[in-house]
Amino acid sequence: MRYYNTLIETIGNTPLVKLNRVNKGIKGTILVKVEYFNPGNSVKDRIALKMIEDAEKSGQLKPGGTIIEGTSGNTGMGLALVAQAKGYKCIFTLADKQSQEKMDILRAVGAEVIVCPTNVSPDDPRSYYSVAKKLNEDIPNSIYPNQYDNPSNTLAHYESTGPEIWNDTDGKITHYAAGMGTGGTICGTSKYLKEQKKEVVSVAIDSYGSVFKKYKETGIFDEKEIYPYLTEGIGEDILPKNVDFDMIDHIVKVTDKDGAVMARRLSREEGLFCGWSCGSAVHGALEFARDHLKEDDVMVILLPDHGTRYLGKVYNDNWMKDHGFLETRKFATAKDIIS
Ligand code: PMP
Repeated sequence: MRYYNTLIETIGNTPLVKLNRVNKGIKGTILVKVEYFNPGNSVKDRIALKMIEDAEKSGQLKPGGTIIEGTSGNTGMGLALVAQAKGYKCIFTLADKQSQEKMDILRAVGAEVIVCPTNVSPDDPRSYYSVAKKLNEDIPNSIYPNQYDNPSNTLAHYESTGPEIWNDTDGKITHYAAGMGTGGTICGTSKYLKEQKKEVVSVAIDSYGSVFKKYKETGIFDEKEIYPYLTEGIGEDILPKNVDFDMIDHIVKVTDKDGAVMARRLSREEGLFCGWSCGSAVHGALEFARDHLKEDDVMVILLPDHGTRYLGKVYNDNWMKDHGFLETRKFATAKDIIS
């Protein structure tokens, strides 16, 4: 019989799939690593498992404990799955800009979800960072993994995402691109790949409204770069400890609209029904590829999550129109057909 003892054994070993349409006119082989094949439908299952197992090993997490995290949803899902398999409780704090679907999904898998205001500074006591920290102080036998600063996040990608990409491309990878939020995905994977072949170029995808690109290019933490934006999961108004700028060669900023439009194109033209930041990653990576890739180059772009979590936003025509992201109605009405 071939079966897994728990769902968490199915984390990782996600497929690489070649892009065939949205990259038309761009040289090189462009592959996407489709992380929605993970059991929680996102790349964050990898770090959830690693953060929990490392907390167990260090003795911080004991049987019956509670896991508290400030999460944009995907890390919560991963932590909830791993917690269930191992018998822990979960409480998550989310910013109120996160999609309703993400909150519903977390509640569906048994977690408690606390919604916090988006547009307050990280050190404001109402922010989702501060609320998570306070709960951790108040609840006995609880841990606050803190994916932003926890080295197990980067390590999960160094130990799993990186080797998978290296092996599946037979070491032929020349460029690696991924969105950048906590920094764990881009930095952990790039570190492994650069150790195998130092010429591998890493391209991080950032959002307008985030501090990363300016900081990488000038060393200045410029508060003027910070303004509200909608894309979930990429860009930050802080510098997480998991960001190691030495592991990143280029940063490309992408607008909310360009990311959303590309996510829809990936779904309709490639059959990849993926999340908003997947669209951002592909849009930004292709912008870079257009100017830099040669025929023999192999670029891998990591797609973090699945499209279901964005049905009410990116995949809703009315929402897209309300935000000025979609000009024309795509679907005809009965009246159009009769007349
Ligand atoms: N996209 C989505 C949807 C995410 O949830 C995250 C995690 N914040 C990222 C991209 C960025 O990944 P990382 O935190 O590893 O930089």
